[in-house]
Amino acid sequence: MLTNLQARDVATVLHPYSNLATLPEQGTLILERGQGVFVHDVDGKPYIEGMAGLWCNSLGHGREELVEAAAEQMRRLPFAHLFTGKSHDPAIALAEKLKEIAPMEAAKVFFCSSGSEANDTQMKLVWYVNNALGRPRKKKIISRIKAYHGVTIASASLTGLPNNHIDFDLPLSSVRHAACPHHWRFAHEGESEAEFSARLAAELDAQIEAEGPETVAAFIAEPVMGAGGVIVPPEGYFAAIQPVLEKHEIMLIADEVICGFGRLGEWFGSSVLGMTPDTVSVAKALTSSYVPLGAVIIPDWIDDALKAQSAKIGVFGHGFTYSGHPVAAAVALKTLEIYEREDVFSHVRAIIPQFQRRLKALADHPIVGEARGIGLVGAVELVADKRTKRSFDARRAAAAKAVALAQDEGLIVRAIGEAVSICPPLVISEAEIDELFDRLARALDRAE
Ligand code: PLP
Repeated sequence: MLTNLQARDVATVLHPYSNLATLPEQGTLILERGQGVFVHDVDGKPYIEGMAGLWCNSLGHGREELVEAAAEQMRRLPFAHLFTGKSHDPAIALAEKLKEIAPMEAAKVFFCSSGSEANDTQMKLVWYVNNALGRPRKKKIISRIKAYHGVTIASASLTGLPNNHIDFDLPLSSVRHAACPHHWRFAHEGESEAEFSARLAAELDAQIEAEGPETVAAFIAEPVMGAGGVIVPPEGYFAAIQPVLEKHEIMLIADEVICGFGRLGEWFGSSVLGMTPDTVSVAKALTSSYVPLGAVIIPDWIDDALKAQSAKIGVFGHGFTYSGHPVAAAVALKTLEIYEREDVFSHVRAIIPQFQRRLKALADHPIVGEARGIGLVGAVELVADKRTKRSFDARRAAAAKAVALAQDEGLIVRAIGEAVSICPPLVISEAEIDELFDRLARALDRAE
């Protein structure tokens, strides 16, 4: 039986990423407030936010400094744009800071409002720059099966998940998907992680040769796949992939929307996974999710190509009303200041062993096939048969059921296909990590 608020909700809100057929019966969990790693629903029941919202609320709830940064900027200058000869201090300072910390030699920063817009911009830049460089055929972008890069037409095309394509008439014809680097699921019998990486690199090489290297412009990858099920690349993966890209003059785009800003214990996941990207997309924890903000960080050679193109055709015709929104930029600057001042990433590095130990211990559970993770992110994949790795019958919706039971236990986690994902705020304490996994274990016991 739905409450009045739930009934009003399902009657009026078109919910993103939801089963729109079953939602009207099930209703939604309606949250009211949050403090630290906890959120409370409208009845006052507390939950551990085991997903940091949607992989984004890095500093937890109730950070007065971020509220103040927004309020102060709103009082001073709530809006200004960056179009046609205009700028403002928060955007300048934030671009400088992102250049300083970027995981590559950075030249400039383009601002937008989300991860999807960042990756959409990446795709447009790839096309535009290759036209500018006189390579009009070099336009295809290779992503990977199970990648998640967003939901605009371009970024949903890059995403490698069926629900983002089916009946949306996607992906765009210039997008290809390479193999998913999930060793547990896709390695051959007896194949080591290093051998699996070498095979995927050889397959990528063959795929590029088949397409024609002169038609392939870029390869986009999350350091660790997030919304595809938290898939940590196998040993040596990027070390094997990158020479293939270099050989064919294919640029590497790092989608740091989840991994960026401390999730793996460093500023960027690229550094942890040995990626040397040409360009980077960021969003989410850039503002600890207090306000929407995304960005694309580009190197000199792209900046030079853009300038050369403007010299030829005039205006660089891309940009959003809210590109570099001053309130978002002010909150981002304060967020980055807090990461440094409170040494948040040292805290993350200190708690990673406990988080991973508690996560990996779930591998012994009768319905868990794999417990995988790195840094402060992980997932458990549920199976009907541990030995054969056979999934549950789709109708059983085992992961969704486990997530509902976790919610009952006072824990928010997220189902991704057959996996349950966990991605707590970076500021979670050791005691809270223990409580999170105790609740998750109880939910899995009940889901058996
Ligand atoms: N890229 C990655 C790696 C993501 O995880 C997400 C969202 O989860 C996106 C892009 C899209 O970001 P947004 O939802 O802000 O558009």
